[in-house]
Amino acid sequence: MRRRLTLSASLAAISLAACAAPERPTLLSGALYHGFTLIDPSAQTVTEGAWLVIEDGLITARGAGAPPPGDYMTEMEMAGLYALPGFIDVHGHMTAGPHALEFIDGAPTLTMEPDDEATQFHARMALAFGVTTVRNPGAPPQASAAYDARIASGEWIGPTILHAGAVIQPPPFGGTAFSYPTTAEEWDAEAARQAEMGMSYFKLYHGLSEAELAAGVAAARAHGLEPIAHLDQIGWTRAAEIGITGFLHALPTSAELLEDDVRDEYLAVRGADARFMYQWFERVDLDGPRMQELYSVLREVDATVDLTLQVNVLMTGPQGRARLYTEDIRPYLHPRTLASLLQFTSLSLAGWTEQDTARAEAAMQQVYAFSRRLHEENVPIAIGSDGPGGGPMFGLELALMEEAGFTRWQILELATAGGARVMRLEDQTGQLKAGLDADIAFLSGDPLTDLAEAMNVAFVMTDGVLHDAAAMRAEADARETPSSPNQNDDRQGD
Ligand SMILES: [Zn+2]
Repeated sequence: MRRRLTLSASLAAISLAACAAPERPTLLSGALYHGFTLIDPSAQTVTEGAWLVIEDGLITARGAGAPPPGDYMTEMEMAGLYALPGFIDVHGHMTAGPHALEFIDGAPTLTMEPDDEATQFHARMALAFGVTTVRNPGAPPQASAAYDARIASGEWIGPTILHAGAVIQPPPFGGTAFSYPTTAEEWDAEAARQAEMGMSYFKLYHGLSEAELAAGVAAARAHGLEPIAHLDQIGWTRAAEIGITGFLHALPTSAELLEDDVRDEYLAVRGADARFMYQWFERVDLDGPRMQELYSVLREVDATVDLTLQVNVLMTGPQGRARLYTEDIRPYLHPRTLASLLQFTSLSLAGWTEQDTARAEAAMQQVYAFSRRLHEENVPIAIGSDGPGGGPMFGLELALMEEAGFTRWQILELATAGGARVMRLEDQTGQLKAGLDADIAFLSGDPLTDLAEAMNVAFVMTDGVLHDAAAMRAEADARETPSSPNQNDDRQGD
């Protein structure tokens, strides 16, 4: 790109010298796509009869009306379609295999060992639903490096992914998807190893102490990785002060963020099970001084939050869980991944009662209010599915954002430019404008009329390469999938 511009500039100089200034417009080259309706969530504009010129994987020109004359390699009319920037899923464990309980050195260990077949399938399904960029918040780094190489060589097709390597967490988590450094040398070596394998983030998990979190931040920064965290006991305000700049899940469930009058009570009722999530939202004062402090500290350190509302819905009980793994969604999850999700999510709801469900459902209104509040407070948020990355679970997340009270324009912005903001990729993707990657979702219907149309993808373009998304979905529809690999799991908690 740059070389060609220099060349034409010098050619212009030569012709300028040889004869009088030529008045010929430069002919555009590359591929021309035209005749579609362009939806720009950043500008909140809808442009009919739009065109885009794509060259070397980048958008080089954008406009509306009669396409400019050019020396195009290909020209494609996209009449009747709606073009949006490709979607960005900021929480998709694309290269982590299914959760499993294994015995390692005689100890029961929770693992997520890589499963190439599942990863390759989910990468195609991400594209099939218009997701062109993913943040992978933790997976075996070898598998993630292999993914990047396969996408670069064209052996696999899938979204561009920025990865966190092995999740830093003490046992019983283990295997290649987890790591637990205990000395200063080990912390540094782990961050160095992940950086060398091309990882972008260092994922610190909820089992770490404050001192470990600080060690993790230092190691990450020393090797150019962004420290991101899924926390529980350590408050987000404290963690942001320590140097965490990416917060995962709408679950800031630390007692430190509750006001004095309810803090002890929360600590007293909190048990080892999943009830603490709704118990925290029942007690938080979103306008109180502690939360006010949180909003301002998050802004101060330029921290981001990914909302994975599905996790909150899952923790409302069996009915919530049933919303996640519907018959509509199951064909697009690899059978081994689906089986594992069903098994592990039922475990997390063991002993759940009707009363828990009622309270957790009521607390969802606070989860939604918290999500909206972060946005109003100008804390960058984005949309994450916490599944294998993209696919119909991303669509479910969009629907939950609408349920949370965000407007369709806001949701489409958060699903595109907002994701780029959180991944710090605004100069690369998230908008359809000259100079950015040609990542585009061509939809069959208007998502501003019905948000479900956002997942009705006809074609998807990633880095300038166009794929038939409808055909990729049809491939999954045609697969034989057991509707429930483990019939027992659906009874859990009822
Ligand atoms: Zn996750």
